Amino acid sequence: MAKKYNIAVIPGDGIGPEITSSAIEVLVAASSKKDVEIATRELKAGGDAIDSFGIPLPQETIFSAKDSDAVLLGAVGGPKWDEMEPELRPERAILGLRSGLGLYANLRPVVVYDELKDASPLKNPGQVDFVIVRELTGGIYFGKNGVYQSGDRLPDGTVKGKVAFDTESYSEGEINRILKIAFELAMKRRKKLTLVDKANVLVSSRMWRTLASQMSFDYPEVEFDCLYVDNASMQLISRPSSFDVIVTSNMFGDILSDEAGQIAGSIGMLPSASIGAPGTPGLFEPIHGSAPDIAGQNKANPFATILSAAMMMRIMFGEEEIASDIENAVKKTIASGLRTSDITFIGESNNFTLVGTKEITKAVIGNL
Ligand code: NAD
Repeated sequence: MAKKYNIAVIPGDGIGPEITSSAIEVLVAASSKKDVEIATRELKAGGDAIDSFGIPLPQETIFSAKDSDAVLLGAVGGPKWDEMEPELRPERAILGLRSGLGLYANLRPVVVYDELKDASPLKNPGQVDFVIVRELTGGIYFGKNGVYQSGDRLPDGTVKGKVAFDTESYSEGEINRILKIAFELAMKRRKKLTLVDKANVLVSSRMWRTLASQMSFDYPEVEFDCLYVDNASMQLISRPSSFDVIVTSNMFGDILSDEAGQIAGSIGMLPSASIGAPGTPGLFEPIHGSAPDIAGQNKANPFATILSAAMMMRIMFGEEEIASDIENAVKKTIASGLRTSDITFIGESNNFTLVGTKEITKAVIGNL
């Protein structure tokens, strides 16, 4: 084979092993058609690592992940580990991987497939196909915070008492590096970029707006606009098809990406990518959790993970053909009427066949 990519695979917990093995099967099949070799190495994280080593993210996992070309993650967590201390819970593994790999941009595409429009809570979603680019390592979740005692009083005489604070702080470097990712992504898509901020109130948002406007001169082909976050949350529902790429801060992105995810109908359809500086392995994973309620029952929808693998091919390796082959095979499979249980729903004509994870994976491979 002409090219070879080393992928670290972290199956994790619950449905994680089922969906990652499905995605790797599809990835290997699609890549081999283009003379590309996929070598995989399985790593432990989450509850799986706690059971083996007593901690959610062993050093070995971080080292091996760093040593790979990209990381594919299933999901972590489950009731078995829910009572553990916060620091030792499986979900800590995700934060540890993001910081260990220096991943600062989270990309979440939202696509509503024609055949699945009835699964969307929106009546007429239209042709929805946009990506939210969320800053991942800065802002209020990582800014200075604390609680202090204030001796002051409020204007009505009430004692202020304790004061709790969190700080939204961003440097120019942090903003510029994510803006660059967003503009570059827009260039590869429909060339439209929307900055979501709260520049009418927040000083940090005004810096985002200034820097984004400056950078827009370097990308004259990209149609650039700005929306306040409160307005954006409405526009996502009222005109989702008009968006192409949305870039925003950590907290706004956290909230808006969950809102946007609902538009697609099932979380089983939504992939994601977390990326860092050029040359660092990115982390590709479905947005959903480990779905312990259906784990090990061949019921999980593997599409979000398969589509995450397609994102990996496009973003990390520039393998556009492999990525679009995988995406087209998923579309074909949906169009053929095959459905896992999460995407069968009342309202659609009964023109579908309920199948399991293994069967739908086989169908995707057949449709490559
Ligand atoms: P969840 O996403 O695991 O499940 C929510 C619902 O969606 C469940 O009914 C589940 O069966 C269904 N579902 C999810 N993915 C599906 C798929 N691919 N196919 C079909 N149905 C699917 O969220 P939850 O139940 O709140 O969390 C379960 C565990 O996952 C918890 O321990 C949570 O902390 C963890 N979690 C992990 C991640 C991650 O690894 N990135 C993200 C979210 C939650």
